[in-house]
Amino acid sequence: MSFEKLGLRAELLKAVAGQGYTEPTPIQTRSIPVILEGHDILAGAQTGTGKTAAFALPIVQMLSEDQAAKKKRQPRALVLVPTRELAAQVGKVMQDFGRRLSLRSAVIYGGVNINAQMVRLNRGVDIVVATPGRLLDHTGRKTLDLSRVKILVLDEADRMLDLGFLDDILAVASFMPVKRQTLLFSATYPDSIKRLADEMLDNPRRIEATRPNLAAEGVTQVMYRVEKLRKRELLTALIRKENWRQVLVFTRTRYGADKLTGQLVADDIAAAAIHSSKSQSIRNRTLAEFRNGSVRVLVATDVAARGLDISSLPHVVNYDLPEIPENYVHRIGRTGRAGEKGVAVSLVCDQEQALLVEIERLLNRKIPVKHLTGFYPRQDHDPDIVEAKRNLKERALEKQKKNMERKSKVPRKKTKKAKTGKRKKR
Ligand code: AMP
Repeated sequence: MSFEKLGLRAELLKAVAGQGYTEPTPIQTRSIPVILEGHDILAGAQTGTGKTAAFALPIVQMLSEDQAAKKKRQPRALVLVPTRELAAQVGKVMQDFGRRLSLRSAVIYGGVNINAQMVRLNRGVDIVVATPGRLLDHTGRKTLDLSRVKILVLDEADRMLDLGFLDDILAVASFMPVKRQTLLFSATYPDSIKRLADEMLDNPRRIEATRPNLAAEGVTQVMYRVEKLRKRELLTALIRKENWRQVLVFTRTRYGADKLTGQLVADDIAAAAIHSSKSQSIRNRTLAEFRNGSVRVLVATDVAARGLDISSLPHVVNYDLPEIPENYVHRIGRTGRAGEKGVAVSLVCDQEQALLVEIERLLNRKIPVKHLTGFYPRQDHDPDIVEAKRNLKERALEKQKKNMERKSKVPRKKTKKAKTGKRKKR
């Protein structure tokens, strides 16, 4: 299949070639013609499958066709995403493609000054890419008018619901015309997504680029069972032994991310943390340093990692298993993107057994277990310790035996009872 067959305009074919894409990915092949025909879609696509271009290309094409509307520069397409990083990333794709057809876009997210966004919106834009909270801030201040929106994209909809954005999504939709085209992309299909789809989509076409709830092919998944307190030691050992140059490590909490980062730095490994307590400018700088290789280990929480797009990321580590099994799929989707190979390593302690069971149930397969010499899930699994214990036991037994032998040679002392007995006889 080639991009030419999908019905895209020459300018966009050039833009696609400029990105170095030689052929469309499966989600692009299936979505682009259906979106161009004006249908709603419910698409199952994980991160790394090329889903952004799958909606960005047809949206840009459709908006460019209405010349009269273009002159007014009012938002006609809105892409809702769960996180700032994903907003920035999708915004960049929209800008790259939109520029070819003289369309303007704006990226709207929280954590940064709102004024610059107002100025941008005031100058007029065709496409808005936004996180729900800040978007509602703008509609509340009347600095953004959504009444002309014709196309709504809910990108990574499952993540948006996990982050509690359901009410915000419904509120945003209430500012838009009922008659519109809605495109819903989700990596997983929990019931909450089915309900959202029922609410928001009109006779949608189902598009399944990959099997739902499964990790991208090309990602090798392994796990190491390890004592909780030795995870950090094991991570350092793996980074050194396997010479990992660029690794994204997930922790459950911001505190955990900071703590681990400090420990890795103390181990002389260039590491930095990225999470929602860090300012946007620090997050951007850290990401740039990770991309250019001056930071070797990026430690992130789930929220911060959403939307990170680092090409050819070779290693992802689950330092803590995620509480929500679907997050495992998202996390490991950071590697093995667009057909590349990647390795996803999980460090699993006894306390995480229940989480592991849930994840393996979701994947419908077991994650293969590996061992690194010196690291075992519990002390009694370590052969060195087992051997040492056996030696100790053997030595103790030997000592006991010798004592018994010695005792049997020494004549037994007469007991009080025996003595009294003798006396009585006399
Ligand atoms: P996404 O799933 O949209 O986050 O895209 C994942 C990565 O795939 C991004 O780095 C894109 O630049 C890349 N990509 C998107 N479409 C293609 C394509 N047709 N061929 C090769 N790479 C692509």
